[in-house]
Amino acid sequence: MAKNIPGKVFKTVKSIFGKEPAQKKAEKYHFDLYGRYPIALVKGKGSKVWDDEHNEYIDALAGIAVNSLGHSHPRIVKAIQKQAEKLIHVSNFYYNEPQSNLAEMLVKLSGLDKAFFCNSGAEAVEGSIKLARRYSYKKGKTGTIISMQNSFHGRTLGTIAMGKEKYQEGYSPIPPGFKHIHMNDVEELENSVDEETVAIIIEPIQGEGGIVEATPEYLKTARKLCNQHEIPLIFDEVQCGIARTGKMFAHEHYGIKPDIMPLAKALGSGFPIGAVVAKEEFAKAFDHGSHGTTFGGNPLACAAAVETLKTILDEDICEKARVRGDYVKTRLSDHSSHWNAIREVRGKGLMIGVELAFPGGDVVKEMLNRGILSNCASGNVIRLVPPLIINKDELDKIVDVLVESIKEVEKKNGQA
Ligand code: PMP
Repeated sequence: MAKNIPGKVFKTVKSIFGKEPAQKKAEKYHFDLYGRYPIALVKGKGSKVWDDEHNEYIDALAGIAVNSLGHSHPRIVKAIQKQAEKLIHVSNFYYNEPQSNLAEMLVKLSGLDKAFFCNSGAEAVEGSIKLARRYSYKKGKTGTIISMQNSFHGRTLGTIAMGKEKYQEGYSPIPPGFKHIHMNDVEELENSVDEETVAIIIEPIQGEGGIVEATPEYLKTARKLCNQHEIPLIFDEVQCGIARTGKMFAHEHYGIKPDIMPLAKALGSGFPIGAVVAKEEFAKAFDHGSHGTTFGGNPLACAAAVETLKTILDEDICEKARVRGDYVKTRLSDHSSHWNAIREVRGKGLMIGVELAFPGGDVVKEMLNRGILSNCASGNVIRLVPPLIINKDELDKIVDVLVESIKEVEKKNGQA
């Protein structure tokens, strides 16, 4: 007869752990989901990280636009330590000071009215679309949310329903009520919004989509249509927000404000936190008990986020991102102007996409072999989103290694 015992019985806790390195253990015990590179990172400082064999890397990925203040920024470490000693978690049935301070900061920095906290980007977007639906429900209407075809908003069922179709494979039934259109096609947008529409959601600069900027005309049209139909305009700033593009929020480049804005990634400098920031008119569509979370807005995550925002302001990080981003783009454009392996260099601040004439996966591997962490978005776009505190020498190294790596792949492909 099968015994109802969950696993093996261990004599000591220590005897649970085998002696294999992190990579081997993960291969044995972790879901196989990420197609990981064969290194295990153990330490980070500023723009650098080290693996368990003491190899040093410059981090041009920053946890995918998360570690904007670099790894283990002293102010963030101190804020987390201080808060951990005081209070790590309380239920949202009670107020907590870091949460209230973070709400105040985000509202004042964005010019919106209210904030709600959760734990990730997907949750922040999910909260935003729930808020949009709830707003229309209160007006006696249900309908469709318009999203962009090549967008990415997370991996929950609601968020995959809005983004790239390849992430929907195998997960049907996909929640209904979403319509995909092509970003930057103003005519299609104008023809798509009707009485049935309950919101439009756009990444002002698409990240996973390959660093694709919305045109000013497109966002202006979206704003106009949302005003006309009295529906919320949602800007997903999970990746492009929080100083990444050289402004606190990417929409500031366009002078166009959203009604609802999900945030996450860089907000907590690596501490998991997401936020929905919204205009009062929309925020009040959530009544007591109509949405919520256990961990969201917990004092430890909020203390990390408050210190992140204070540091961004104190150290003029937006301006640094702008200046350093312009520098990288200028250096790369010198190459792209006479080399057809690089089709285009685009983006704002330190959210840069280098579109190649061929798939970028091997280039990323060559860069890793040469000590640079990077990544490829949308098949052929090398995404550079390093810490915003990165110095010129480190940026030069990233550019030099990128160029060398592209040449190496060209040579291997027989294209050089
Ligand atoms: N929105 C955007 C624009 C993103 O780039 C991402 C993550 N890449 C998400 C939402 C989802 O964030 P998370 O992975 O924290 O759920």
